[in-house]
Amino acid sequence: MDCIFCKIVAGDIPSNKVYEDDKILAFRDLNPEAPEHVLIIPKKHITSLNHVTPEDHALLGHIQVKVREIAEFLGVSEKGYRLVANTGDEGGQTVHHLHYHLLGGRSMKWPPG
Ligand code: AMP
Repeated sequence: MDCIFCKIVAGDIPSNKVYEDDKILAFRDLNPEAPEHVLIIPKKHITSLNHVTPEDHALLGHIQVKVREIAEFLGVSEKGYRLVANTGDEGGQTVHHLHYHLLGGRSMKWPPG
């Protein structure tokens, strides 16, 4: 298995975890683009949003529900934050294991670059 995020899930590569349960993991991004920058990933390897199937319905719903808890833990829920899933080359995806960036702690710009 040659996926860096699968290795993080397996504990073979260390990470700065902020949330974990049996289905998902959230850890701090190595190169933060905002004062709070956390990656939320399914433990199951899904390459990108392009590879999601109907059987992932509950898993993706679970992530959406947990975003709220994680944002509260990070202290950004009141002021606001951004959730981003870069997908494919033009979407800027560099790690090919589905992940959501939760960015907060500063004002975000729109449109994104
Ligand atoms: P993306 O470019 O959307 O695929 O995002 C990949 C993100 O993973 C980038 O923001 C990287 O900084 C981050 N990243 C890569 N390797 C690690 C790692 N070992 N621990 C934490 N974050 C990482």
